[in-house]
Amino acid sequence: AAPHADPDCVFCRIVAGEIPADRVHEDDAVIAFRDLSPQAPLHVLVVPRAHSRDVRELAAEPALLAHVAEVAGRVAAEHSDDGDFRLIFNTGENAGQTVFHVHAHVLAGGTFAEGAM
Ligand code: 5GP
Ligand code: ZN
Repeated sequence: AAPHADPDCVFCRIVAGEIPADRVHEDDAVIAFRDLSPQAPLHVLVVPRAHSRDVRELAAEPALLAHVAEVAGRVAAEHSDDGDFRLIFNTGENAGQTVFHVHAHVLAGGTFAEGAM
């Protein structure tokens, strides 16, 4: 198991290969896989392998946070027509976070209304 792997954390289990996922990228630091319930034509989650709770914790590791952003850009460039994307970190229950292993949503390929969330 990866360092700090939590057997009760669904994304730790995906990182460890215990739960299947449709991976579009993986490297030593992060994996990226398609969301089970896509909210846009391209909906990928970029997930650091090491468990941390949310982007507030991830911000303590700026190189890793920057790597998440860079992988998001690469995934969008490879899997959507124009390469444009939204990068969203739901942070805390009241913001809709349901999985408390930090992940960036990459949303692309949709028609996003101006000003919409
Ligand atoms: P949150 O609301 O925490 O920001 O987003 C969690 C996301 O993880 C949701 O969009 C949900 O569809 C996705 N998700 C939850 N469990 C799984 C899973 O086992 N596999 C995959 N591929 N996505 C998952
Ligand atoms: Zn975890």
